[in-house]
Amino acid sequence: MPDLQKIVDEIYSKLKPRRGEGKVADYIPQLAHVDPKKFGMAIVTVDGEVHKAGDADIPFSIQSISKVFTLTLALGKHGETTWNRVGREPSGSAFNSIVQLEHEEGKPRNPFINAGAIAVSDLVLAGHTPREAIGEIVRFVRYLADDETIAIDPEVAKSEQATGYRNFALANFMASFGKLDHPVEHVLGVYFHHCALAMTCTQLAHSGLFLAAAGKNPLTGHRVVPSQRARRINALMLTCGHYDGSGDFAYRVGLPGKSGVGGGILAVAPGKASVAVWSPGLNHNGNSLIGSLALEMLADRTGWSVFGQ
Ligand code: GLU
Repeated sequence: MPDLQKIVDEIYSKLKPRRGEGKVADYIPQLAHVDPKKFGMAIVTVDGEVHKAGDADIPFSIQSISKVFTLTLALGKHGETTWNRVGREPSGSAFNSIVQLEHEEGKPRNPFINAGAIAVSDLVLAGHTPREAIGEIVRFVRYLADDETIAIDPEVAKSEQATGYRNFALANFMASFGKLDHPVEHVLGVYFHHCALAMTCTQLAHSGLFLAAAGKNPLTGHRVVPSQRARRINALMLTCGHYDGSGDFAYRVGLPGKSGVGGGILAVAPGKASVAVWSPGLNHNGNSLIGSLALEMLADRTGWSVFGQ
């Protein structure tokens, strides 16, 4: 195993002068208040070693990273029939694009673009009230991270609800094709709240550990999903986890990853570790600019790419 603490410290100091680069998401007003110079990184290995740097213990809005957890829950409830409602192909379009949805008659391309995650929220609801579904998601993430303190930031949820015009458009569009089982307001209530989960890099890296360890959290001993499912979720993260920047992320980093507009990225090095980075400035695809660079440096220094050393 490479000297991970040394590598994390080196990444931290190399990127220090570049902090603040990129554009902080401001279409959700509450996210615009975040200090653009924040940077955190945490690695949790499958043996339980934790290595971190910077603001790794400050909670931030995980936004779309939560889509990995809701997909895992939906697959647990509905198994392969999940794929009747959402596809498994990279979209090649922006995270909130509506154009593709029209061509594909309300069946979103994949579970990680907004439309796809809205369809997944509908599946997680499964006849329950939004409050129950939101409670279930929070409990699930706490269980994954083995941390009871994880919570939703109600201000972010409210801010999304108030300004989520495009997400309302996407959900209404799907409803018009008869693709939602629950009322639009219920589905979006679930969606906005899971996007508003606040977590630290350390918590996030713990919560992704099951994906690095064939479906079982090696620290708690909990089997979360069968190994085949973990592999498949990783495949989706690799191909679809960074919106229309997924190809670039695979090229540069070579690890399954999921980004969020809060500036976080969760990356999985199968058999090795789960890694979370946070830096709020985004690139033109809506992925953390400095966070992607940090992961690129990590993959270079560790040889952890799934495509070979
Ligand atoms: N809650 C955000 C939205 O729906 C998620 C987008 C993201 O993190 O990429 O717009």
